[in-house]
Amino acid sequence: MSEFDIDHYRVRPGQKLDLSALDTRDTPFWDPKDKDGGRAHLSELNERLEALQELLWAQGRERVLVVIQAMDAGGKDGTVRHVFEGVNPTGVRVASFKRPTDKELAHDYLWRIHAKVPGNGELVVFNRSHYEDVLVVRVMELVAEKRWRKRYDQIVAFEQMLADEGTTIIKLFLHISKDEQRERLQARLDEPDKNWKFEQGDLVPRARWKQYQEAFEEALSNTSTEDAPWYVIPADRKWYRNLAVSEILIQTLEGLNMTFPKAAEGLEDVVIPE
Ligand code: AMP
Ligand code: MG
Repeated sequence: MSEFDIDHYRVRPGQKLDLSALDTRDTPFWDPKDKDGGRAHLSELNERLEALQELLWAQGRERVLVVIQAMDAGGKDGTVRHVFEGVNPTGVRVASFKRPTDKELAHDYLWRIHAKVPGNGELVVFNRSHYEDVLVVRVMELVAEKRWRKRYDQIVAFEQMLADEGTTIIKLFLHISKDEQRERLQARLDEPDKNWKFEQGDLVPRARWKQYQEAFEEALSNTSTEDAPWYVIPADRKWYRNLAVSEILIQTLEGLNMTFPKAAEGLEDVVIPE
């Protein structure tokens, strides 16, 4: 297998995207026939991520923010479950952003977001994010275009501020096909254990698939920066999606060159009493 090149998935600043031209079943860095091998490899990656997160927490200096966006049934929850398996929940937090409450709507759209960003040593995953404010808000016309259009620049500035203040930002778009979404939504109807996940409301964005894809294309293109890059992950095959996301997190965290804090002076003479 070739080395997993995460840059392959990275959106370059200003890069124009045509999501329909990107194969959602693509597996360039793993043999698609070797799904079992891929799953076994994920266990190894889980251990590496666990070790890196321990280091992040022990060192207590870096902050890491992972933003996940996708169409409904795109695999946001599954990604969190599988990629972070085994990671120590201390120091890791998931923030899910739903339809804003009245109180949230009474503030600017970044108000609820800023309150959840990681502190020192923390790794925070955003399951949906401020990007909803240029996605669902745009497609469903929840605010005027004049207002949401300014948000691309505002988001870039906000994220740049976080990065300048010491936050490492990774943004992941889980890219599924419309057919894959149909299968997954249908499974939510057919399998009793999955019924709870089905929301009739999910059929509305599905009916506006093309507008959503355009909204994603523009959002990713306008807000992928050197310090807060977007990655487009082919996500129809869940096992490959998990590998890609794990590799992106691991390679980014390794790039921080973190070290465990030095032991306090004089520890070599300390003896634990009986
Ligand atoms: P789920 O992730 O399945 O729990 O669904 C959350 C819902 O909240 C989705 O339909 C999102 O589009 C919606 N949502 C999240 N953020 C916003 C927002 N800022 N404005 C409007 N709807 C939102
Ligand atoms: Mg849902």
